[in-house]
Amino acid sequence: MTDALYRNALPGVLSLHAYTPGMPIDELQRRLGIADVVKLASNENPLGPSPKVGVALAEAARLNLGLYPDGSGYKLKAKIAAYHGITPDRITLGNGSNDILEFLARIYAGPGRAVMFSDYAFAVYPLATMAQNAEAVVVPAYPADHPTMPYGHDLEAFTRILKTRSDVSLVFIANPNNPTGTWNTPQEIEAFLDSVPPHVVVALDEAYFDYQDVALRSNARVWLDRYPNLLVCRTFSKVYGIAGLRAGYALSDAKVADLLNRVRQPFNNNSLALVAAEAALDDQEHVRQSVELNSRERVRVGAELGKLGLRVLPSQANFLTVDFGRDAAPIHQGLLERGVIVRPMGSYGMPTFLRVSMGTEREDDRFLNSLREVLG
Ligand SMILES: *Cc1c(COP(=O)(O)O)cnc(C)c1O
Repeated sequence: MTDALYRNALPGVLSLHAYTPGMPIDELQRRLGIADVVKLASNENPLGPSPKVGVALAEAARLNLGLYPDGSGYKLKAKIAAYHGITPDRITLGNGSNDILEFLARIYAGPGRAVMFSDYAFAVYPLATMAQNAEAVVVPAYPADHPTMPYGHDLEAFTRILKTRSDVSLVFIANPNNPTGTWNTPQEIEAFLDSVPPHVVVALDEAYFDYQDVALRSNARVWLDRYPNLLVCRTFSKVYGIAGLRAGYALSDAKVADLLNRVRQPFNNNSLALVAAEAALDDQEHVRQSVELNSRERVRVGAELGKLGLRVLPSQANFLTVDFGRDAAPIHQGLLERGVIVRPMGSYGMPTFLRVSMGTEREDDRFLNSLREVLG
């Protein structure tokens, strides 16, 4: 760190490690010299987007891409507003919902402020916090031997710790959580929201909302009116299948949306992402089919892993997080060598785990067969 170029970098930034994404298919194909690589590493929709997205993008090719996009996202916001029954002034569009998480940190986090989130929560929460030179208050998760929700968010602990930390200005909750798949019930979340002081903003990250059983889905739309300090994030990257285009959004109080808009770069959504997100939102039948495939595969793959004697964390998302009871790096490597990309969990402090996204039946069979080979 004596290098002159590091010397003046902010300490929070120096303490960071860059996010390690799932390996791109092309990269492994180049490395192995094989064509048929399966990627189950980034929780993408194995069906891809609705065919209607393709049609909309083909039409959009006629757009004049020399012009800036609609910086207000008028048409997409109108659709999101109708979908959620909310006014457009309470919607903020992001270049992925990751964008929203960073806006929140920029608004509410900084030196002398603290941001609260669970251990084993989404990797972007610490990244956004540290980049602002704010303190991370990491709440211990439920223990590994918890009877129902190992590694899950302990919202009662959030409440307890929040009472002792008046410097916390922002709380991140991922429900269901990535990388664990664990969840909190609507009752737990509501009890937590009741306990939070009105000046502390709670970001409820619902990237995997549609994959949850109906009975477990939050009624965040009602909460948004009751708790002005609540913000809900959704993304077009997961069930809507357009991770490659980058679009997400937040629902919040109009005042929070106003603040988010102040830090947002003026054209954070490109023209094609806006058009694709509109088409994706319109095709709820595609969402239904995607959810159905996921529910089926989550049960089937979970059962097959169980037969191999492996422990799988409870999941309401589109992935399973699997404990191998020993360093999982060689297993990850063995799967890579067989053309199957899954997500190692060492960077999350869970080195004996791998996270595998649910694919099509064929892709999941490929994963299961390769795993059986690797485990010998
Ligand atoms: C995938 C994911 C997101 C969304 O990422 P995008 O930036 O919208 O692609 C947000 N939160 C969690 C917990 C996720 O897993």
